[in-house]
Amino acid sequence: MTKRGADLPFALPATTSTARARARRIDDALAKAHPDAHCELQWHEPHQLLFATILSAQCTDVAVNRATTGLFAAFPKVKDYAQASPEAIGEHIKTIGLHRNKAKFLHRAAQLLMQDHQGDVPQELEALVALPGVARKTANVVLGNAFGINVGVVVDTHVSRLSTRFGLTKATTPLGIEKDLMALFPRERWCMLSHRMIFHGRRVCKARHGLCHEDSICRRYCSQAASVE
Ligand code: SF4
Repeated sequence: MTKRGADLPFALPATTSTARARARRIDDALAKAHPDAHCELQWHEPHQLLFATILSAQCTDVAVNRATTGLFAAFPKVKDYAQASPEAIGEHIKTIGLHRNKAKFLHRAAQLLMQDHQGDVPQELEALVALPGVARKTANVVLGNAFGINVGVVVDTHVSRLSTRFGLTKATTPLGIEKDLMALFPRERWCMLSHRMIFHGRRVCKARHGLCHEDSICRRYCSQAASVE
């Protein structure tokens, strides 16, 4: 077994066994509350998840799924995006914000996948973040969900908000929050941890009008809850 964090490009912050045990209890409670937590983007092949995640920047999963139904039917393979013009790709994602830029990202990413990776999606973070429109968060989504590889934790707006409210981090940047979560949670949980937090964030701890008094996890672990068990 790889030593925790031994292959990571940065050192993880120090944690205590008490903090790690508390983190594990939070994740256990989230797993019990959201047994159906999963990636809410629709995809079947790794390149579809990669492209859907690129499209999801500043856009809801629901809106992405609405657009990718037609997009994936029109362009079944990576080579189809590489051979099409960005304008032709853009026709299928007009309902998505920044669609012209995102169509260019998909076109160029597909060209690079054909040129450097035989049309496959690479399974290394460094190779993924070399693609246009792909930063660390997107790479984590693809590696964790398409390949079962945990090299980081996906930190979106929900994960960021809940991590702070549950007292798991004081960091204010996505990478700082990610490092704190990586240090606190067992590596094999990283991918599902973010799905569970996103489910909780969408259904319970909404950005506005969270169900603070009604949820046992919140009452027990959130600094904003009115009462503590
Ligand atoms: S108590 Fe309220 S603010 Fe805290 S996690 Fe729950 S819903 Fe969110």
